[in-house]
Amino acid sequence: MSYNKIFYLDNVSTNPINPEVLSTYTMLLEKYYANKSSIHALGREVYKLHEKSREEVLSLLNVKNSRLIFTAGATEANNMAIKSVAMANKAQGKHLITTNIEHPSVHSSFKFLEEYLDFEVTYLDVEADGRIDLNKLKAALREDTLLVSIMAVNNEVGAINDVAAWTKLVKDNSKAYTHSDMVQALGNIDLDFNNLDIATFSAHKINGVKGSGFLVIRDHIDMVPLISGGDQEFGIRPGTENSPANIVLAKTVRIALEEQVEKNEKLKALKDHFYDSLKDNPQVRFNSNQEHSVNTLVNISVLGVNSEIMLNALGQENMYVSAGSTCQSDVHKRSRVLMSLDKPLENQQTRVRISLNTDLTIEDIDTIVLKITEIGEKYAV
Ligand code: PMP
Repeated sequence: MSYNKIFYLDNVSTNPINPEVLSTYTMLLEKYYANKSSIHALGREVYKLHEKSREEVLSLLNVKNSRLIFTAGATEANNMAIKSVAMANKAQGKHLITTNIEHPSVHSSFKFLEEYLDFEVTYLDVEADGRIDLNKLKAALREDTLLVSIMAVNNEVGAINDVAAWTKLVKDNSKAYTHSDMVQALGNIDLDFNNLDIATFSAHKINGVKGSGFLVIRDHIDMVPLISGGDQEFGIRPGTENSPANIVLAKTVRIALEEQVEKNEKLKALKDHFYDSLKDNPQVRFNSNQEHSVNTLVNISVLGVNSEIMLNALGQENMYVSAGSTCQSDVHKRSRVLMSLDKPLENQQTRVRISLNTDLTIEDIDTIVLKITEIGEKYAV
């Protein structure tokens, strides 16, 4: 029998729009439809709101001497941060460093630079808890290293990499620029921009509008536009702006930051209860690390039950989860992230990513854990 309640446990993939954001966004769509580059009064008004949002987001994040470029999400922002910066600054060096656990939009951007533009890329493996080893990073730095890109929070296992520590190490030991994919970090952990040159974000992971994101980059770093067109967004991201989405972004980020502490308290209790309830189950392996990962995410393997069976069986109970990154949703493929963490093949084939939200209760976690246990017993081969 299916439960009536929907357990939305895929919040890392995307989460529902905040009602306040939705109402402002709808109002903007209705009333502020003019092109921000038009010189008539309505165009001017949209322009003002657009630029106010840009300034407000920079100030909310407390970043200085930087520009913010609005994009259609973090996939685009990551492509820009990596390809555009590498192409514009290739005279400074053709060596790049990243990790093996990055989002496909980062990983594939590096592959592109390697394959088509002769850049040399070092892909660092991570430790069993998903964090980089600073000594390995230091050893990988070279005189000609142009860019180091390491995500702040991993989207499959939630591992937190200490941005303050690794960016300082890079700045102390090289001339390289530093980039971090902060999509899963914003609203979940405190951000540190002291030694960070470029950061990328997405709105739909913080209860914002889908297809909306942004890049923050130090003023002095050159970029080339990846798309040719007009002079919107400093000439780097041409095309008529999605002004309603860009304007409402300030409110989206503000709410996410205002709610961060309270949200984390609730989520930590839920996450700890989840781990505690499953840790004595001999069928369950944890792919995420309770201590070193964000509170939103738990990644487990129920041995003997492959991911597809678990996802379908939980789906029958209105419990919606993923196997891993939904940008690579083929559950039959091995996870590049779990491979880098050196997880056994069996963990990979049975992986389930459960991502929590504050609407859930401890009783809900008990219901979910019970279901996972029952499915484990029923379907184990
Ligand atoms: N980076 C990370 C860590 C992500 O989790 C995602 C979303 N799956 C992205 C980048 C891409 O963001 P978007 O969906 O806005 O393109």
